[in-house]
Amino acid sequence: MAKEGRVFVGAFYEGKHATPPHRYPKTQDSSSAVTPPCLSHFVIESPYKTPDSRERIAMTTMRPVEVQCAVCGQTSEQYLLTSTNSFGSADLDTRPPEMMRSTIHLWVQRCPQCGYCNADLSALLPNAPHIMASEAYRDQLADRALPALANSFLCLSIILAALADYARAGWNCLRAAWVCDDAPNIEGAVSCRKRAADLFKEAQLQNQPIATQAGAADALMVDVLRRSRQFPLALSLCEDGLRKHQDDLFNAIFRFQQMLIERGDTGCYTIAQAVGNA
Ligand SMILES: [Zn+2]
Repeated sequence: MAKEGRVFVGAFYEGKHATPPHRYPKTQDSSSAVTPPCLSHFVIESPYKTPDSRERIAMTTMRPVEVQCAVCGQTSEQYLLTSTNSFGSADLDTRPPEMMRSTIHLWVQRCPQCGYCNADLSALLPNAPHIMASEAYRDQLADRALPALANSFLCLSIILAALADYARAGWNCLRAAWVCDDAPNIEGAVSCRKRAADLFKEAQLQNQPIATQAGAADALMVDVLRRSRQFPLALSLCEDGLRKHQDDLFNAIFRFQQMLIERGDTGCYTIAQAVGNA
């Protein structure tokens, strides 16, 4: 285990403005938006490292923008993240620490007119109007059992899944689960993670990477399965992971997960907790 700085373990990048893997905190001038965090960053902040002063003063800022919906043409006010930071360890499912963690409401936009959901409403996903007309999409958009923000992520997931982009569809279900975690809406979170797990499995069958580093995909899947109460599957993948990945970090994560699974723990834990740095 590294004892200083960040340990970058894995990343999955979304979109053309993906964040480079070596630096996670972002401070940018107000003219440019901050891309939502790379969803599968496995970042460990060592307790021995002192953040530099630039990171220390970075704050979350956002600005309103008028965005024209690519589906219906309606203009609506949306908010762009212009700066933020993150200190500490990501969760085992790569959810970033604060302050990035609390910017999740800025990672998806919903058109108030037609209900189109995308990270950028002005970008048209192929076939979106047709997919949005489906019963599944309309029902999801209006699902009162879940927070509206979770529904926005799930609607985006429905579009992406229909486009056979299973990896990104899965990530958006996981984001929906994070929203449910915060609500808190435990059953909603379990349901979103089950959907994420199914989509990640399909992504892997289609050779779509859900993480870029060996071990990261398995580590992620174990956590998604454990937190959606699919303990036998989680344990089996954990044992596979221990056989396949000899890396100290992943070894520690899989052993930690094994312990959680054996005691039926569906709680949220950080990577630092798994490796004993918390
Ligand atoms: Zn619209």
